[in-house]
Amino acid sequence: MANRDDVKRKVCEVIDRNAERIVSLGESIRRHPELGFKEFKTARAVEETLSSLGLAPRTGLAITGVRAEAKGSKDGPTFALLGELDGLVVAGHPVADAQTGAAHACGHNAQIAGLMGAAIGLLGANAFAHLAGRVVFFAVPAEEYGDVEWRVQQSRAGALEFLGGKPELLRLGHFDDVDLAMMIHTTSQPEMKKAGVSASNNGCIVKTVRYIGRAAHAGGAPHLGVNALYAANIGLMAINAVRETFRDEDSIRVHPIITHGGNQVNVIPGEVRIETYVRGKTVEAILDANTRVDRALRAGALALGAQVEIETLPGYLPLFNHAGMATHFRANASQLLGADQVTENGHRSGSTDMGDISHVMPTLHPYMGGATGSGHGADYAIADPRLAYVEPAKQLALMAVDLLWGDAEVARDILKAWTPRMTKEAYLGFQRGIARQELFDGAK
Ligand SMILES: [Zn+2]
Ligand SMILES: [Zn+2]
Repeated sequence: MANRDDVKRKVCEVIDRNAERIVSLGESIRRHPELGFKEFKTARAVEETLSSLGLAPRTGLAITGVRAEAKGSKDGPTFALLGELDGLVVAGHPVADAQTGAAHACGHNAQIAGLMGAAIGLLGANAFAHLAGRVVFFAVPAEEYGDVEWRVQQSRAGALEFLGGKPELLRLGHFDDVDLAMMIHTTSQPEMKKAGVSASNNGCIVKTVRYIGRAAHAGGAPHLGVNALYAANIGLMAINAVRETFRDEDSIRVHPIITHGGNQVNVIPGEVRIETYVRGKTVEAILDANTRVDRALRAGALALGAQVEIETLPGYLPLFNHAGMATHFRANASQLLGADQVTENGHRSGSTDMGDISHVMPTLHPYMGGATGSGHGADYAIADPRLAYVEPAKQLALMAVDLLWGDAEVARDILKAWTPRMTKEAYLGFQRGIARQELFDGAK
């Protein structure tokens, strides 16, 4: 009988031997960023890598997702390792796609490198001979919830229902055979050091807003127009006024952008479009803030006698990391990176659709270093490729060994004690219940 620590050591050795391949994959994806649900080249690279390891990847899941599984020597639970495929549009990022503006300013390229590295390590070390159950290697689309107008069009055309990758994969049943899930997100925040686990992350809902006024000659006859831009400005100011009612402990974030501000400068704007998130620590807090935001948006239409169309879209649920899984991560990370490099962090105000997964199964979403600059900023860069690409591969693989070793006792114990926050059906019902369209007429 092999010793678990020996197998873990061997997995790490295989990953180290393949470090160059893992780094080069991460760098290649970094240089070819793609937006969510459009990550075709990145998905192709994942498919090729998984195939080269003798796995049989399935592709085209929620448009661009790719998954393959490897079986242990005995039956047992299924543990999914996830990596996100997408970049996002960040103005001025030096490694942005010239056509789409997409850039890897959130480090998702490192997630894919780490995921592929974990597959290389587990398979190359023949770890599955000692494991029960299955590991799913799952490259998932569209974590960044942007490009909203295009996604809404896709949804109207029936190509998507939910506009984020993991919610859509959940809906389509691609997590139905998964019992536990984990991914590692790169961070550039020095205070998290080399590895850190947060207690929780904000959830969010997403809104598109359209102010409808009346176009008129901006010089000759402004009195005949209804200025949708000024209505929108008042709506945004009203949101800012409402901010003082948000409680610190609810971690509310509302951050609208104007995506269309008018058509031509000598025409009173007849249409203005806005997108925003409403984020918060709990579902209740998000829904409460959302009610206030809607009221503020209506105020703009009322002031100008314009109309406002408010579409509320399901976003992401708050993330809860599984404490038991986090204990294993911290132990492995402390051993490889040094205990002083492993941090515990409180609540984080960003959102992720890993939150949705954390409502239906035990989930872990730690952060690891290797990046510098500001997340979602033009200065975001990979500074330490080994820490960003290679070390996460080891942490994912070691977690798989811990959870599924022998008869997968660790995973089974976690599952025995686990009560889902929502069943899949309740989750889908909840998200569908968020979707709402309203037309408010401020002229009436
Ligand atoms: Zn991001
Ligand atoms: Zn991210």
